[in-house]
Order: sequence, then C-alpha cells, then structure tokens
Amino acid sequence: MGSVYDERPWLKLYEGDLPVEIEPRHANMVELFAAAVREHPDDIALTYFDARLTFAELDELSNGLACHLVDSGVARGDRIAVYLQNVPQFAIAVLAGWKAGAIVVPLNPMYRSHELTKILGDARPTAVISSEQGWHDVVGSVAEALEIGIAITTSELDLQTRHDQRLFAKSQRRPAAGCVDLLSVARAHSGKRPPEVSPSASDIALLVYTSGTSGVPKGATNTHGNIVFNAEGTALRLDGDIVGGIFALAPLFHITGLVVQFAAALAAGRQLDMAYRFEPGVVLDALAEHRPAFMVGPSTAYMALMNRPEVTAEHFASLQMVHSGGAPLPSAVVEAFRERFGLYIRNGYGLTETSATATSVPLGKEAPVDAASGTLAVGVPTYNTVLRVVDEDGSDLPVGEVGEIVIEGPMVVPAYWNKPEETEAAIRGGRLHTGDVGFMDEQGWFYVVDRKKDMINASGFKVWPREVEDVLYGHPAVREAAVVGVPDAYRGETVKAFISLSHGASVTGEELVEHCKQQLAAYKYPRSVEILDELPKTATGKILRRQLRDTARAGD
Ligand code: AMP
Repeated sequence: MGSVYDERPWLKLYEGDLPVEIEPRHANMVELFAAAVREHPDDIALTYFDARLTFAELDELSNGLACHLVDSGVARGDRIAVYLQNVPQFAIAVLAGWKAGAIVVPLNPMYRSHELTKILGDARPTAVISSEQGWHDVVGSVAEALEIGIAITTSELDLQTRHDQRLFAKSQRRPAAGCVDLLSVARAHSGKRPPEVSPSASDIALLVYTSGTSGVPKGATNTHGNIVFNAEGTALRLDGDIVGGIFALAPLFHITGLVVQFAAALAAGRQLDMAYRFEPGVVLDALAEHRPAFMVGPSTAYMALMNRPEVTAEHFASLQMVHSGGAPLPSAVVEAFRERFGLYIRNGYGLTETSATATSVPLGKEAPVDAASGTLAVGVPTYNTVLRVVDEDGSDLPVGEVGEIVIEGPMVVPAYWNKPEETEAAIRGGRLHTGDVGFMDEQGWFYVVDRKKDMINASGFKVWPREVEDVLYGHPAVREAAVVGVPDAYRGETVKAFISLSHGASVTGEELVEHCKQQLAAYKYPRSVEILDELPKTATGKILRRQLRDTARAGD
C-alpha cells in the first residue's frame, strides 16, 4: 500500500529544472576518470597553491603508483589506507588504488594510534599511504604492529609551493626506513599502465569508517555504483550555468570531500582546488587566488570564514553555488551570508552511508523555514531517491509527524564491512535507518530536528560518546563516565564528560582531558569534565546519558 512518501510530493518542486531520474554514465570510477582524461587531457585537474596538475598528469602519476602497488603484490579487493590532508597526493593515491582494483580506506589524519589500531585492525589493509610526518608520529608504529607490508609516504613539502613555510614550519623531510616515496615510485613507472581493471558497479570503491553506538568503528562499503551516481548527480547540478572549478573546503577523507568535491570534479571535468586543511585565513587566500565556482562544507566552515576580520565580498565573488552539509545549518547563517556576500547557501543532508548527498535544494528554489521550530529544511530527496519518516515499527508516518528518517536510493551502501549484525540493524531491504529524527511538510521538504542516536556533531566531525567513554574508563581514577554533546558557538556542538571517581582516587578534570588528548583525534576529547559523586542511573543501573545531556544543555 502506497503512502504519501511513495507519491513523492517533492517531484513538483523540481519543475523540470533538473531531471528527477538519472542513469549513471559510467559503471565505475576508473572508467569515469578515464573519460575525464580523454575529454580534458590538458585542462587543470588539481591546484595546490601554486602547484598545478593536468588531467593527463594526474593520469600518468596515478598509473605509475598503481603499477608500483600491483608490482608490490596488491591484488583486486585488497584495502589501501590513505592518511593525508587535502594534497594532490591524496587524489593520486585514491586513483592509483582504484586502478589497481583495490578498495581505498580514507583515514582522518587527526586520528591517533588508538583510533588507527581499531580501524586498520578491521580493514586489514595490505598497503598504507601516509604523510611522512604522520608516519613518524603515529602511522608507522601502527602499521608495524599490524604487519602492513607495503608502506608509501609522501612529504607535504614535495610540491614546493610558496605556502610551505606558512603551513609546515615544523615539518621536516625525514624519509623513514621501509617506506618508499610516493612521487618517486610514481615517476619511476612513468609511461607504464597497470593491468586493466573494470570493477562492477557493486564492487566496493571506498571503505569509510564511521563510529557507532557501540564505540567500535564500522566501515561503510561505498561501491563504485554508489559514488558514480552521486558524483554524476553533483556534476549535473553544475552543468547548467555554473562555470569554473570546485574548491575543496571539506576534507577529502570525509565522504563529502571524496564524492561531492573530488569524484564530482572528475565527473564534471572541473578543476579541484586544494588548500591542505581548513584554516580560514589560508582558505580565503586560496579562494581569491583560484576563483572557484562551487564549494561545499559544513555550516561551521561558513561561520568561521564569515567571522574572519579580513573577509570581504570580493573573497567569494567567483562563487556561483555554495552547499552546506554534514551538520545543521541555522537559517540565521544563510541570511547573514546572503546579506554580506550576496550568496545563498544551499542546505543538503546525507551520511557516509548515503555516499554524501541524499537531499538537496532544487535549483531555482530556496529551502523554507519551519515556522514552529525555526528549523531550516535540509532539502528534498535527490535523483532516484525516496526519504520516509517512520515510527518505531518502521511504518510510514503521515505528513508533519516527527519520526526516524529512512533513505532508499542508488547511493545507499549495501552493508558495513564484516558487520552483519550492524548491517541488519541499519540497512534493511535497501533502506537506511539514519538515526536522524525529522519530518516532511506538505510540499515534500524534509526537516531534521533531532537525533535518535547519541552522536555528537562537532563542526561536521562525528563523535560517538562510547568511544570517548572507553578512553575515560581506561584511566584508573575513573569509576563511571558519560559523554554528551553541548552547544558550542564555534563548532555547533562540543564534547563534555561527566565522571565519578573510583574509591579513594583523585584526579583533576584537566588531567582527564590530557589523558583523552593523548589517545583521540583533537575534535573528540572532552572540552570540559565535570566530576560528580554518582552519575544518574535507571533502576537497572544504566547511566542516564540523555538526562545528563539535557542538564548540561539547560545549564549553558
Ligand atoms: P557523516 O556520516 O559524517 O556524513 O554524518 C552524517 C550525519 O550528519 C547525519 O546522520 C546527520 O546527523 C548529520 N547531518 C548531515 N547533514 C545534515 C544537515 N544538513 N542538517 C543536519 N544534520 C546533518
């Protein structure tokens, strides 16, 4: 029996501006990239400050690296982990991995050994590609412990841009024993091509780790078909009137960066501008220098850019379309941005499990604001996609009623890597149960108002309380720990911990913060620790994390 969602009321909002169904043009990312190289060999594919690579050069370097991977024993379906910031070597590594028939595992370069050990222990890569600094600081010891045989490093200084001094004052060139240099091995195979691979649409292209309620990271298996679909969908949005390149505002290790920036730039044959990592001052300079037409990032990035003293409308003058996704976008930010820079930020919603985009604002439309809650709509389902709002039993709820958002579409991953139970819990019958709570209005606009899951969203970076709590429990003075998200003016949300002490133990909040800092990426450690005699619990002894969260929010 069809419900209101099956009628897809949002289709009327497209008004013929965009197609509502699309057919993928390529079966996999290897073919998609090959087409871009054929069509635009001499156009600029990547910029990195004053360094440039054309599509043909990117092809050549990634062929060379792929040859090295294959010669070293990387086989089809093997995993290759990549631990890099937004540098051209990231793109070379991902393309080389795909050309070798491998699955690429992008890693957040903020991860410390605690996090890397868990992720790499699950992904079991045969090769790891890292910055030299990252190798020395953390990746090398983890790769050695896990006996990862193939190690490739690259120096951020290799590209010799004039920004090196500013970005890498502390970085040194120290090639490590047992590692080969990425650009050297790629160039050593110059002119060679790896044996041809032709992954099917259902082959996994990326294994992107997200944490989970249990605190154990799970790998979303983004297939070639998933990525091609969303990359081509983004390219289609740019095809009409948007002339120019894409600025990589989001990190490439995140699904948004990989798909909506990198893969979309390949699909559209556009220049992708990289600027190492998000630093507002550096980003503003790079925008002024490269004059991109499109960018996408979390709302907090727009807020950070807007608040820089040197910012003027001129910095954003080349931009013709800007998207926000990955974190709630306050309508006040949209208005302020429009007023100061004449640019309308288009909201979009999605997850790692939907290969980034699942909703967007149709061209020529603006997302409405819900009068009762003041929430800005996240958009309407993109091509070939259906969103529903369901109750606890998974049954569709009527228009306007709040429930869990489920998503079905060609970009939904088929499974989590080696996790049948987690897969069954979240992805049933091709429907992704998002853990996000929201509703649909009469016209078909969707609104995200809350979360069923305990996840904390710090500037678009996701923190799962269990992971931080596990680290806190590792401190001998901690008897009980509960971690919650609290509002934060800069990050949207930030991490706060409540703990109670073991009998006779004493420790300060600062010491516990330091303990977490040693083991967790910078966005995950608690910004404050509150020590209580007892944590509130249910009759069965379960800690009431939600109650603590609500108390913390009320006190802010
Ligand atoms: P990730 O897997 O890092 O892409 O995170 C996905 C989560 O980010 C979703 O489940 C939402 O909780 C949140 N999210 C993504 N886009 C939006 C948006 N436009 N508004 C509010 N929350 C969002």
